[in-house]
Amino acid sequence: MANRTKKEYTEHGMGMYRYRRCRCEVCCEAMYHFRKKYRKTSDNYNKMIDATPLLNWLRENGQITQIDGSTARKWAERGLSVYSIDKVCIRLGVHPVEIYGNQFYQGCFSD
Ligand SMILES: [Zn+2]
Repeated sequence: MANRTKKEYTEHGMGMYRYRRCRCEVCCEAMYHFRKKYRKTSDNYNKMIDATPLLNWLRENGQITQIDGSTARKWAERGLSVYSIDKVCIRLGVHPVEIYGNQFYQGCFSD
């Protein structure tokens, strides 16, 4: 396989994602599993997400009293992890996508 280094990325997967910037489902999947394998925890779980949309949603829906003031301030300052957002949303009976839109799922694929 001498021509391996000059490989053309015609098949969707990690190579296509990295070198051809393809972002189809197959390529994203491949990259996601690659990253997961080489990092102990997924980026998604460490990444802090801006709490503003969540806090706004709570105010607009009269649910801001569900959390105490110090929690709200902490969220506003540091943001929340995806995991925390999930937990809060489950408690509120709302899907994170209803608050954050589809960008909620896109975090793990951004560079
Ligand atoms: Zn692709």
